Amino acid sequence: MTGPRPRPELQSLTPYHSSELAGGRIFLHANENPYPPPQHVVDEIFERMRRVDLNRYPDPTPGKLASLLGEYNDVDPSRVWIGDGSNEVLLQSCLAFGGPGRTALVFEPTYRMHYRQARMAGTAVEESKRTDEFDIDIDDAIATIEIGKPDVVFVCSPNNPTGTVTSLDDIRRIAAETRGLVVVDEAYFEFCGVSLVPFLDEHPNAMVVRTMSKAFRLANVRLGYGIASPDVLEQLSRVRMPYAQSSFTEIAATVALEHRDELLAAVPAIVAQREKIEDRLGELPDVEVYEGGANFVFFTHPEAARLVKDLAAKGIVIRDFTHLIAGALRVTAGTPDETDEFIETFVGLL
Ligand code: PMP
Repeated sequence: MTGPRPRPELQSLTPYHSSELAGGRIFLHANENPYPPPQHVVDEIFERMRRVDLNRYPDPTPGKLASLLGEYNDVDPSRVWIGDGSNEVLLQSCLAFGGPGRTALVFEPTYRMHYRQARMAGTAVEESKRTDEFDIDIDDAIATIEIGKPDVVFVCSPNNPTGTVTSLDDIRRIAAETRGLVVVDEAYFEFCGVSLVPFLDEHPNAMVVRTMSKAFRLANVRLGYGIASPDVLEQLSRVRMPYAQSSFTEIAATVALEHRDELLAAVPAIVAQREKIEDRLGELPDVEVYEGGANFVFFTHPEAARLVKDLAAKGIVIRDFTHLIAGALRVTAGTPDETDEFIETFVGLL
């Protein structure tokens, strides 16, 4: 029998896997927001959905949503690129600027999808290591860029899974030294407030990628966006699917942005829970905590693999990174009750 011929270079990409959820009660594995949007916001979304003609294609260029995103980020709406979750925007950046015969640079350990998206688009991947504290080693980065001349550079800040915030000085140096597209993944921006967006005019080869999955509480809505120069967006438009965002995505994101102060009001409470986890775990023997700027805490313990299983047996799901870094775990900041239960249970398991 002759079967289809899959791309050989994709065979090392196993399907994306997060944590085992069966039996879970408290989900602190996916950096989701523990607070659903308020009921009146949900009602408004569904009320507006009732008026949508489901037999018609959605608006291919949702102008209202782009203008609200522009207003939120203090940029012209023409510089906003909308995608199905930020993952789609990240993939599009590889399709448009990477591809066969081209290279992407990633700073490992980082969000693994950057590597995967580059490979999916047929792009070769070069890795530059971080320091022991997971900062980008800027001299090594610049040297790697000079030698390898990457076509796409991914900078994740705050970095997932380590939480590390890269200084704007370093990001701007990387952008200035690179001729390729510098994709700055700011999925967790709202939890730290550090952004390249105000400086994008000085870096026409950079694109900031954001999501409404985290601070805006809309992981299920699948709305991500990019902010970049018109030249970059023109290239992205070549790899865009027609009618990509459903009206549900568009309406939910629009309503959320119209109520953004209310939705974002939970951010300080989440940051306070992150700080509580950092402080409490930091006092424990054999635990090393890496302070970060997102809605999660990255830490190590020699018995990490056992601890993650024992927590799961008690219904608390966190994320195991021991395959990547010895003893590494990541836990999302939840509600105060969820966070307290995680801390107490974890302490009891030591
Ligand atoms: N970037 C980073 C750094 C992330 O951690 C995530 C989600 N975990 C994403 C992008 C993708 O988010 P989404 O597709 O939901 O926008």
